[in-house]
Amino acid sequence: MNILISGAGVAGQALAYWLHRHGHTATVVERAPRLRDGGFAVDFRGEALDVLDRMGLLGQVRALDTQMGDATMVDADGRPYATLPAVVYAGDLEILKGDLTRLLHEVTCDVAEYVFGDSVTRLEEQADGVRVEFERGAPRTFDLVVGADGLHSRTRALAFGPEERFLRHLGIYSAVFSLDNYLGLEHTGLLYSVPGKAANIFSARGNTEARAALHFASERFAYDRHDLAEQRRILARRFAGEGWEIPRLLREVAACEDLYFDANAQVEMESWSRGRITLLGDAGYCAAPTSGRGTSQALIGAYVLAGELAAAGGDHVRAFAAYEREMRGFVAEHQKAGREGAEAFFMGTPTQELLDMLAAGMPHTERGAVVRLKDYPA
Ligand SMILES: Cc1cc2nc3c(=O)[nH]c(=O)nc-3n(C[C@H](O)[C@H](O)[C@H](O)COP(=O)(O)OP(=O)(O)OC[C@H]3O[C@@H](n4cnc5c(N)ncnc54)[C@H](O)[C@@H]3O)c2cc1C
Repeated sequence: MNILISGAGVAGQALAYWLHRHGHTATVVERAPRLRDGGFAVDFRGEALDVLDRMGLLGQVRALDTQMGDATMVDADGRPYATLPAVVYAGDLEILKGDLTRLLHEVTCDVAEYVFGDSVTRLEEQADGVRVEFERGAPRTFDLVVGADGLHSRTRALAFGPEERFLRHLGIYSAVFSLDNYLGLEHTGLLYSVPGKAANIFSARGNTEARAALHFASERFAYDRHDLAEQRRILARRFAGEGWEIPRLLREVAACEDLYFDANAQVEMESWSRGRITLLGDAGYCAAPTSGRGTSQALIGAYVLAGELAAAGGDHVRAFAAYEREMRGFVAEHQKAGREGAEAFFMGTPTQELLDMLAAGMPHTERGAVVRLKDYPA
C-alpha cells in the first residue's frame, strides 16, 4: 500500500520504518523545512525499549544516553535544599529529543519518501483511497493517511474537527531551549520552583551544552503558535522580577534558535480513525509532557499500527480497530500519569521526603527488559 504520514516526528518516522519492514511504501510530509531537532531530553520506559530493540536501535540509543545523575533543587539564591533522583526525570534510558529524531531519520531516509516544507490542506476519502491536497505539491491519492503531526494535528482538524473539541488543557505552559552550559553542570541539573512557576537547567551532550525550561501555570490563552517573538514576550512578562537564574534565562530565550513553546495538554478522542484515515502519537492521544511517556507512546503506537495492518493483511478497517484495542488501556494509563504529574507540578518547594516518595513510586524497568509486545508477521 501507499501510505501518507503527516509529520516527521518520533511517531511518523517510526511508522515509516515499520511500514517499510512490512512491505508498504511510506511518504512522509513534514511542515518544517528540515528535521526539527530542538527539544529537551526524552526518556523511554518499559515496552518502548523493546520496540527500539526490535528496530535494531537499542545499542545506538544507549550510546547516546545522557547518563544523567540526580539533580538539585535550589532556592531563589541558588542554595540547594533537596535532591531529585534521576529515575524521576530520566526514566530507564534518556536521550536528547533531537538525537532520537535524527537517528530515526537515518534509518528511514532511504526507505521512505520525505517531503519537507509542505502540509496537507484537504483530505477527500474516495472508494479506493484518499485524495490529498497539499499547500505546495500537486494533489496525490494514497491508500491510507496517518496523522502523526503532533498535538496541534492538521490531519485531526481536517478529518475530525477543530482541536478545541479534543484538547484538554492541563493548566501549564512550557518553553524549552538550548544554551551554553555556562554553569559548568556535569551530567546533572538544577531546578527552581515557586508556586505557579518553575525553571530548570540541565547539562547536555556530554556537558558541552545545556537545555533550559521555563514553566508557568495558566488558564488556556490565545497566542500565535508560529510567532516566536510573541512567545518570547509572553515568557518575559510571566517571569519578570523572578530570582535565581531567571534573568539570564530570559536573555538566553531572546537569543536562542530552537525555542519550543506549548501548552501541556492531552488529546482525548472517542475514536482515532475515520475511514482510511487514522491518528498516531500526540496527534491522536497526547499524554502531555508531564506524563513523561509521550515518546514511548509514539514508538509503541507506530509498532502496533504497522503490525496490525500486516496482521489484517492490509484490511484497514480491521487493522485500525485492532490498533485502538491494543493501545487504549495503555494510553489511558499514560494520560492518568500526565494529569497527576500536572497536579503535582507546581508544588512550590518540594521536600526531600516527597521527592523520595515520588522516586519510589516511579515505574522502573530493568534496562533492556523485554515486555509484552505482540509479534507481528513481517
Ligand atoms: C521541536 C519539538 C520539541 C519537543 N520537545 C519536547 C520536550 O522537550 N519534552 C517533551 O516531553 N516533549 C517534547 N516534544 C513533544 C514530544 O516530541 C512528543 O510528545 C512525542 O515525541 C510524540 O511525538 P509525535 O511524533 O507524536 O509528535 P511531535 O514530536 O510533536 O511531532 C510532530 C511532527 O509533525 C510536524 N507537523 C506539525 N504540523 C504539521 C503539518 N500540518 N504538516 C506536516 N507536519 C506537521 C511537526 O513539525 C513535528 O515534526 C517536542 C516536540 C517537538 C516537535
